[in-house]
Amino acid sequence: MISKLPHVGTTIFTTMSALAQQENALNLSQGFPDFNCDPELIEYVNKHMKAGHNQYAPMQGLPLLRRRIAEKTAKIYGCKYDPATEITLTSGASEGLFCAITAMVHPGDEVIVFDPAYDLYIPVIELNGGKAVQIKLQFRDYCIDWAQVAKAVSPKTKLIVLNSPHNPTGAVLSGDDLRQLAAIVRNKEIFILSDEVYEHIIFDDLQHHSVITEPELAKRAIVMSSFGKTYHATGWKIGYAVAPREITAELQKIHQFNAFTINTPIQHALAEYILKEEKYRDLGSFYQQKRDKFRQVTAGSRFKPLTCKGTYFQMMDYSAISDLPDTEFAVELTQKFKIAAIPISVFYHDREDNKVIRFCFAKADETLEEAGKVLSAI
Ligand code: PMP
Ligand code: GLN
Repeated sequence: MISKLPHVGTTIFTTMSALAQQENALNLSQGFPDFNCDPELIEYVNKHMKAGHNQYAPMQGLPLLRRRIAEKTAKIYGCKYDPATEITLTSGASEGLFCAITAMVHPGDEVIVFDPAYDLYIPVIELNGGKAVQIKLQFRDYCIDWAQVAKAVSPKTKLIVLNSPHNPTGAVLSGDDLRQLAAIVRNKEIFILSDEVYEHIIFDDLQHHSVITEPELAKRAIVMSSFGKTYHATGWKIGYAVAPREITAELQKIHQFNAFTINTPIQHALAEYILKEEKYRDLGSFYQQKRDKFRQVTAGSRFKPLTCKGTYFQMMDYSAISDLPDTEFAVELTQKFKIAAIPISVFYHDREDNKVIRFCFAKADETLEEAGKVLSAI
């Protein structure tokens, strides 16, 4: 069989989680909490299953949930979206990203992507015959050099993919970043795909700047959110896309033949739970405590933390410990020291290796303490 993705293997997240399991290691690699989601949310799902909400929901998503997403979006970002035509529930942010890229990218189109890039974007661009034009975030602060972006834009540029707060680096975009991007795309037919799944996981009194807060970007943007990240339920695979009507219509043409529709009782439950504003308002301080705990328990180690402004990932420089390439170091750490992490070079097109690995700190305090002991002894 001729592969459509000849250069793609199994994702690093699956690979490292499998190795962690095989080695009986603490899994700080793949990003997911090791604690449960709110029992109240589980009760809501149960209640709706028992009430008989177990058949197909509308293709676009449950109307009540779409309405409440529109209300939330208006409240927190001051932006109005029509729940009838501009919001789509998706099977995790992943399916939304797949549909968005498939809707927008035609053969021969160029898509600007920033390295290190979350692993889903580029294979999907290539499946659609597009070409990823990769620009590196600047090591160590992982900021975007907008002059370089302006230079990379060509008549073939169809789409720019953003991700803030950024996985794996923890960098965040500022209001000024958005203004610089707006100036670059003004009067051009370029779309924006903004992966904002960590929108509520942002620290140190920083504010999340959604691309929809910049009108020049909002009119050409699809923004992806994920309930999995926000409500500690990554296994439920439910997210949503907001985008102007014409873009949403194209996204939904793909979605209707992909997932078609999303888990009904969970949508009913989320339509209720989303009203509890404190659940997402307090998420930043919840994870900031985890970040600080992880940094505190590793403070005496030879791992050196990089800046982490958002997400639940802490990048660590291990160059004082080992000269091994990061992919080999991550395996050694798992096999010998029983802690799994994610090497960063795999997210670069040229496999740039800065001797940095990523730890997920969405873990119980005891897990973080245990990890701290081991990492401090290396
Ligand atoms: N984008 C980024 C940057 C992510 O970290 C994740 C988490 N896996 C996703 C998209 C996918 O989110 P979901 O699990 O909702 O599909
Ligand atoms: N987004 C999660 C991470 O960055 C993993 C999701 C996945 O396994 N695809 O670790």
